[in-house]
Amino acid sequence: MFDKVLIANRGEIALRIHRACREMGIRTVAVHSTADADAMHVRLADESVCIGPPAAADSYLNMPAIVSAAAITGADAIHPGVGFLSENAQFAEIVEAHGIAFIGPTPEHIARMGDKIIAKETMQKLGVPCVPGSDGPLRDGAHAAAMAREIGLPVLIKATAGGGGRGMQVVRAMDEVETAFALARREAKAAFGDDRVYMEKYLSRPRHIEIQILADGHGNVVHLGERDCSLQRRHQKVLEEAPSPGLNAQARADIGQRAVAAVRDMGYRGVGTLEFLYEDDRFYFIEMNTRLQVEHPITEAITGIDLVRQQLQVAAGAVLPLSQDEISFHGHAIECRINAEHPRSFMPTPGKIGDYHAPGGLGVRVDSALYSGYRVPPHYDSMVAKLIVHGANRNECLLRLRRALGEFVIGGIETTIALHSGLIADDCFINGDYDIHWLEKHYLPSL
Ligand code: ADP
Repeated sequence: MFDKVLIANRGEIALRIHRACREMGIRTVAVHSTADADAMHVRLADESVCIGPPAAADSYLNMPAIVSAAAITGADAIHPGVGFLSENAQFAEIVEAHGIAFIGPTPEHIARMGDKIIAKETMQKLGVPCVPGSDGPLRDGAHAAAMAREIGLPVLIKATAGGGGRGMQVVRAMDEVETAFALARREAKAAFGDDRVYMEKYLSRPRHIEIQILADGHGNVVHLGERDCSLQRRHQKVLEEAPSPGLNAQARADIGQRAVAAVRDMGYRGVGTLEFLYEDDRFYFIEMNTRLQVEHPITEAITGIDLVRQQLQVAAGAVLPLSQDEISFHGHAIECRINAEHPRSFMPTPGKIGDYHAPGGLGVRVDSALYSGYRVPPHYDSMVAKLIVHGANRNECLLRLRRALGEFVIGGIETTIALHSGLIADDCFINGDYDIHWLEKHYLPSL
């Protein structure tokens, strides 16, 4: 096992990884920008290194600074966390070229799955159903129009290198195709430095269901069930639950098995998530994330498996300690992403935290790097806490979640706690009756 791990991230996820390392007797190195000198991940780590000014491009995305920090502190592994460099194949390659272990899949797997067209092709070949769409990138406006006619409106134009819900354009009429194509291309170029875009059928009422995979690179692969992440705003997840209220046991077992078979065929190592849209009892693969997911704690809650510990173990070459038969699912879990944003306008609300009180009690987990007096910087993602609640069944989970949200105090700034309190009291949500469009089309406009 590793002696010292450098955590190339910030906020709650850096803390999450630090905690797993601490419990395993591994020392930690935090890295931080000048804006994060007082951050909790820096305070708790054994050592810390400042890697640059506030802008992420100069600090948390600064590969030479991060690799140097690992070399100076003698870290033998780097955990990239989520976001930032976690799906950057070049970073994984550079880290390994310096004799440091990258806690994640091989650079080849990151690169393959990071190109969404190659990812879909790969999955299709391995027998995983995909959303109908263009076979490769769209060449020009005329090609986009021809594909839209073939697939049938509405269609979605997506960035090949996409992520974070950015660079997508819905097309509902033929006379919009060429403009949407040009716009998507510009957005993709600006956001990802790669202007290739492709087209998919735009599904009208799917759920977003994703399968958590764990693989050791020695041919052992298991799935840890699904997460339903259909509650989204601007293609970004707001609240997630496991198991999905919209899936039966047979469908769950089928898609789990297919995902496991595909990942085994790929020779994959690490944690990974296969994301699907699920409509009319059919699954359609959209992408694979080759890293830990923000919403991983709900899987941990229902399986009792520490995903970060597993990640560290398989990165160190260990064989998976569990077979599929040994994995069982208990109860129901929900995660609320709490953002430093106004609960109605969603305008970011960075600033100084006043009173801070996190809820507790049986079945309640809070992953957050907040503390009273901390100043939320304006430079990064606005998610400041995750509230994860577990209950014996969905009803118990909902009652507990209501109680926990009521206890949560984050003073000094506006947060989306109020949004979650309202959302979980809505009849459609209580009945599990929602798809990926419901929050934006029905719930938010009704406020
Ligand atoms: P990103 O990598 O940017 O997160 P994804 O491909 O994972 O992009 O899609 C993000 C979200 O966008 C999905 O969860 C879903 O809500 C929506 N979406 C993606 N593809 C489609 C589609 N073909 N039809 C309808 N919605 C889609």
